[in-house]
Amino acid sequence: MDETTELMKRLAPVERKKPLLPAITPQAELALLCRVLFKEGYNDHIAGHISYKQPDGTLLMNPWELAWDEVCADDILRIDAETGKVLEGDWNITPAVNVHVEIHAARKDDVRVVIHNHPRFGSVWASAKRVPPIYDQSSAMVDGDIRLYDEYRGTVEDDSRGQSASESIGDAKWALLANHGVLVVAGSIPQAYLRAATLEWRCRHAWHVEALGGGQPLDAKVAQETGARPDKNGFPFFWEAEARRQLRAHPEVSSSVA
Ligand SMILES: [Zn+2]
Repeated sequence: MDETTELMKRLAPVERKKPLLPAITPQAELALLCRVLFKEGYNDHIAGHISYKQPDGTLLMNPWELAWDEVCADDILRIDAETGKVLEGDWNITPAVNVHVEIHAARKDDVRVVIHNHPRFGSVWASAKRVPPIYDQSSAMVDGDIRLYDEYRGTVEDDSRGQSASESIGDAKWALLANHGVLVVAGSIPQAYLRAATLEWRCRHAWHVEALGGGQPLDAKVAQETGARPDKNGFPFFWEAEARRQLRAHPEVSSSVA
C-alpha cells in the first residue's frame, strides 16, 4: 500500500456511498475547469484556452468567443490533434491552437491537459521576470521548478511562435511567460486544476508577503516534500469540491452534448 492510499484510509475509514461528483461528460469536465479557473483569477476577459486530450486522440477545447465563466458542455469544440481544425462544435477555435498541438505532440506520455491564460498575479511575476518564492503551505501543493520563459515575440498564432511557446515549458509542469502569462500542463483535470490554482495562489501570496516587506520562504526540501504527494494524485477532493460548487450554482454547465 503506498503512502497516499494509507493516508486516505486513515482519513476516510467510512466507505463513501455518495460519489464526489455526478457522472459528467468530458465536455462538462472541461467547461467546469474553465469556470473554476475563472474564479481562481484566470479571468482576462476572453483570453485563454484549455485543451483536453481524449482517448481517441482528439482534443476538446473551449471556444475563442466565450469568457471562461460562461462556457457550457455543449459549447466545447472537438479538434483534430494534428491539424488543429475543428471537427465538432458551433464556435471558432483560438488562432493559438498550434500551441496545444505542439505541446500534446511533444508530451504524449504525461500530458492530457494544457492551459494558457493571463491570470493577474501570475502575469505580474512573469512581467517582473521572477519566480515567486513559496511562503506558505497552500503555495507548496505542487512540487517542481517553475520555468521562466524570458522571450516575448508577440502573440502565438503563427507556427514558429506556437513552437516557441511549447519549447518554453519543455518537460516542466508550469511556466511563466515573460510579459505575457502562464502555461500549465497536467495528466488529468484534477491535477490541472491543482497546478493552475496553486500557481496563482503562490503568485498572489508572495505578492502580498513581499508588499509587507518580505518573509521567510519555506525550506526548499520541505516545500518539495509537501508538494510531491498532492500533485501526484491531483489532491483528492480539491477539484471535486469546486466543481460541485459550480454545478450547484449553474446546473446548465453540464448540459448534454449531442
Ligand atoms: Zn496569451
